[in-house]
Amino acid sequence: MFYIGCHLSVSGGYESMGKTALSVGANTFQYFTRNPRGRGFKRPADSDVLALVALMEANGCAPPLAHAPYTFNPASAEERIWTYSRDSMREDLEVLEMIPGALYNFHPGCHVGIGSEAGIANCARLLSEVITPGQGTRVLIETMAGKGSEIGKTFEEVRAIIDSVDEACRPHVGVCLDTCHISDGGYDITGDREAVLEAFDSVIGLERLYAIHLNDSKNPLGAAKDRHEKIGEGFLGLEGLKGVINDKRIKHLPFYLETPNELDGYAREIALLKSVRE
Ligand code: FE
Ligand code: FE
Ligand code: ZN
Repeated sequence: MFYIGCHLSVSGGYESMGKTALSVGANTFQYFTRNPRGRGFKRPADSDVLALVALMEANGCAPPLAHAPYTFNPASAEERIWTYSRDSMREDLEVLEMIPGALYNFHPGCHVGIGSEAGIANCARLLSEVITPGQGTRVLIETMAGKGSEIGKTFEEVRAIIDSVDEACRPHVGVCLDTCHISDGGYDITGDREAVLEAFDSVIGLERLYAIHLNDSKNPLGAAKDRHEKIGEGFLGLEGLKGVINDKRIKHLPFYLETPNELDGYAREIALLKSVRE
């Protein structure tokens, strides 16, 4: 099964996102758990979340990928920011327990001067505090572009975060690979996919990979910019991304588009990708 979805707005509620996903030809989707740049949080009604679950199940969809807002910084040395990130992530995970098999993706954050090692330690400590050993949701560290003082740009850093999480929580930690970010981070995912996936496997382990953010990039390899482009219109190109969605090691994973599109653009990209899926 080809699981493909795009990023959707949560503003109309949970069930509404499921309907929108189906309307653009998607069988999964991603959304922000709360305003990506603000601090407010309105907990969704249980009935709305359960209606989404029923709709997705009835249509053979893969569970959604919830994305934490950009205001979190788990790597931060600032107590107030770190605590806010931890408490909000806990709240998000509580809601997600209503969605069987849900995935939760977050940015490991910026160390803002304290160094990656300290940032990694802060991030891992946060995960150890929010993850409960019995939870159903997998928490995914997103691979980053390395903009500013972002941690998680190298596979080694991602691995270091996982290794520093409490052992009881570690089985619930996975990785989401963003094709734009890793290209910006210097991994030639379209030019030399073999080498990149081998590196991922030897450093992190492909069994830790649970989702792919499928994006083209406005910038060349190693640019560290993090500017997504529409599929086929950027540095990675359609041929390269076609290789990614058809690679036998990862083709079973859900793919999520975070390309600069409105719904009609997403519908077109999903149809295009389906047409080149083998
Ligand atoms: Fe992201
Ligand atoms: Fe992403
Ligand atoms: Zn990005």
